[in-house]
Amino acid sequence: MNTRRGGESGSPVRRRSFLAGAGAVAGVPLLVPGTPNPRTETFTADVAIVTIPFTALRHVAVEPLMSYPKRRAIIELHYDSATKVLLEFSRRWWEFTEADWRRELNAIRPGLYDRYGTDKGRADNIFGGGSLTDWPNRFVYYPSHQIGDSRGGVLLASYSWADDASRWDSLDDEERYGFALRGLQSIHGNRVEAFYTGRGQTQSWLRNRYALGEAAVFLPAQLTEVHPGVSTPEGPVHFAGEHASLKHSWIEGSLESAVRAAIEVT
Ligand SMILES: Cc1cc2nc3c(=O)[nH]c(=O)nc-3n(C[C@H](O)[C@H](O)[C@H](O)COP(=O)(O)OP(=O)(O)OC[C@H]3O[C@@H](n4cnc5c(N)ncnc54)[C@H](O)[C@@H]3O)c2cc1C
Repeated sequence: MNTRRGGESGSPVRRRSFLAGAGAVAGVPLLVPGTPNPRTETFTADVAIVTIPFTALRHVAVEPLMSYPKRRAIIELHYDSATKVLLEFSRRWWEFTEADWRRELNAIRPGLYDRYGTDKGRADNIFGGGSLTDWPNRFVYYPSHQIGDSRGGVLLASYSWADDASRWDSLDDEERYGFALRGLQSIHGNRVEAFYTGRGQTQSWLRNRYALGEAAVFLPAQLTEVHPGVSTPEGPVHFAGEHASLKHSWIEGSLESAVRAAIEVT
C-alpha cells in the first residue's frame, strides 16, 4: 500500500511494509504490522492506493468492511499459478553437435560417449528458443547467449502454469530438480545428466508470500460479475495493479491501472 501523504516520518510515500490491517475511512489510521518483528506502525493519510494483489488483500483485515462488490471480488477473483525450475549445467549441451558430444563426454571419462549407446539422444545444436513437451516440464527455454567466458549455462528446464504448475508446487524445492532433469532427458537423451552440476533454482508464485499466485486470470463470467468491483474506489481508498485493469496478467495492465489511480487521486 502506498499512502500519498502522512506518516510521522514526513515522507510522502511509504513502502516496504507488510500490510496486514487497514482502516478504510479518511483520517482512520492505516495499521501496518511489520515483519519479521510484529511491531505496528501507524500512518494517517487523506487517500491510499492499494496495489497489492487481491490474493494478499484477502489476508488483510479492513475496518470498517468494504462494500459487498469489493469483498466479493477479493474473495472470488481467480489467480493462476506459475512455477519455474532452472538447472545448472557445466556445458551448454543443447548447443552441441554430435562431434561436441563425443569430445565432451569422452573428456569426462574415456568411452563415456559410447556407453550411453542408444540412450544418447541426438545433437540438437540449439541456440535460444524453447521446447514444448507433454512431460511435466511442459515448457523448456534455452539461453540464446552465453555469460562471459563460461562454457556452462542455466536452462529453464520447466516453466508451467495453472494445473501443470500445481503438480510442481506440491513437491519440495529440492525434489523438483530431479524430476525436471528426468523430463529433460526424455527430450534430449539420458546423457544430459553428465553435465548437471547438481545445482538448481526454483520459484513458485503460488507459494510466494508476496504474490500468492501468478496473476489474476478471470474465470468465465468474472469479467462481468466480478471485474466491476475490482477497480472501484472505496471512499478514499483506491486500487491499482494488474488485476485492477482490463489487461490483467500483463505489465501493461499494471501501468494502465497506475495511471487511472493517479488520475483518481489528483
Ligand atoms: C512467471 C511470470 C511471468 C510473467 N510474464 C510476463 C510477461 O512476459 N509479460 C508481461 O507483460 N507480464 C508478465 N507477467 C505479469 C507481470 O509480471 C505482472 O502483471 C506485473 O508484474 C504485476 O504488477 P503489479 O504491480 O500489479 O503487482 P506486483 O508486481 O506483484 O506488485 C505487488 C506488490 O505487493 C507486494 N505485497 C504483496 N502482499 C503485500 C502485503 N501484505 N503488504 C505489503 N506489500 C505486499 C509485493 O511484494 C509486490 O511488490 C508475468 C508474471 C509472472 C509471475
